[in-house]
Amino acid sequence: MKIAKEFKWEMGHRLPFHKGKCKNLHGHTYKLLVEFSGDLDVNGMVMDYYDVKKVVGPIVEELDHSFIIKNDDTEVIEFLQKINSKHVVVNFETTAENICYYFLDKISDADLPSNISKIMVKVYETESTYAESERTLI
Ligand SMILES: [Zn+2]
Repeated sequence: MKIAKEFKWEMGHRLPFHKGKCKNLHGHTYKLLVEFSGDLDVNGMVMDYYDVKKVVGPIVEELDHSFIIKNDDTEVIEFLQKINSKHVVVNFETTAENICYYFLDKISDADLPSNISKIMVKVYETESTYAESERTLI
């Protein structure tokens, strides 16, 4: 059985390696779809939606209205620090694919119910483009 919940947030980023427009500072309204798979618990639930929000909400909140930036983009990081603007420094290029892994790492590190066997995340950068990945828990 699977359950899913959607989250949305606003975030800026850039892809310095990109030959086209994505090298510029810009932002998206991101959407995350997170799915949990597992057997039902004694209450007939895979996971309480309230608990999904408790696990995933703070991860999304940390990113909301921030600028996500790779740790080697030092000039921009210095600027963000100088103007005291919210930013999240990461060690990866800030593609939708890598943001999927970011969520999978954080969610699988959380205290999840023991019946959860798989997490799937989809990160939408626009209405029509997304990256998707999943992780089986052991
Ligand atoms: Zn972008």
